[in-house]
Amino acid sequence: MTAENFFLYIIVFLYGIIIGSFLNVCIYRIPKGESIVTVGSHCMECGHPLKWYDLFPLFSFLFLRGKCRYCGTKLSFQYPLIEAFNGVLYVWTFAAKGFGVESVLFCLLFSDLLVLSVIDLRTMKIPFAGELFVLLIGMIVTVLHYKDWMNYILGFVFCGGFLLIISVLFFLLRHKNGLGLGDIELMAFAGLCLGFFPGLFAIVIGSVSGVFVEICKILKTKKNGRFPLVPYLSAGIFFAALYGQSFYDWYLHLVL
Ligand SMILES: [Zn+2]
Repeated sequence: MTAENFFLYIIVFLYGIIIGSFLNVCIYRIPKGESIVTVGSHCMECGHPLKWYDLFPLFSFLFLRGKCRYCGTKLSFQYPLIEAFNGVLYVWTFAAKGFGVESVLFCLLFSDLLVLSVIDLRTMKIPFAGELFVLLIGMIVTVLHYKDWMNYILGFVFCGGFLLIISVLFFLLRHKNGLGLGDIELMAFAGLCLGFFPGLFAIVIGSVSGVFVEICKILKTKKNGRFPLVPYLSAGIFFAALYGQSFYDWYLHLVL
């Protein structure tokens, strides 16, 4: 790696953690129906407004040793974790896809999916605005690849349709809803971002990892209930977006 490249990755990481700190705001406020832009940040415990130097991602948490400067309450470890995670996602994306428009779009997509995954884990709900953001990214990606637009429309129909069929089958067999409408919409919109083959790839990774982890959890806790699907689908979408196409090319090369 050249020194110039290293410097670029540092900048990508910094962008990642700064946007990551905004994602924390979204994760806490969207489920409560609060505005994510108008109200300034404040300590969750004492309500003290936070200064810019309290809000610098990752570093503030380290300097303050995870405590509020004003009331001393321990801050949730989730803040620096989300910030660092988002920074790593950005560096990973740029390393896999190069420095280009598509990497920027995918970074925004992954940040949105990170927010939706955490909200789904905490509340079992998927905010519709977050889904619309995936649709928006999908439309931009499709326009950028307009010569290949059929592939993206096919991804949309296939990913949405596949989950819809699974959900109908589940309902017929078990007489209850296994999949939420939100999961189906999200996967359809993600299909538009990915195209047909990477979309298929995302569904395979998402469902295999989801079923595997959840069966382990059921065996351990003996509890069997609905589980949040978005984190697994998001993991599938992430790997499919970065590696789906090269995996497909490799596969074709193997078969032909
Ligand atoms: Zn405080």
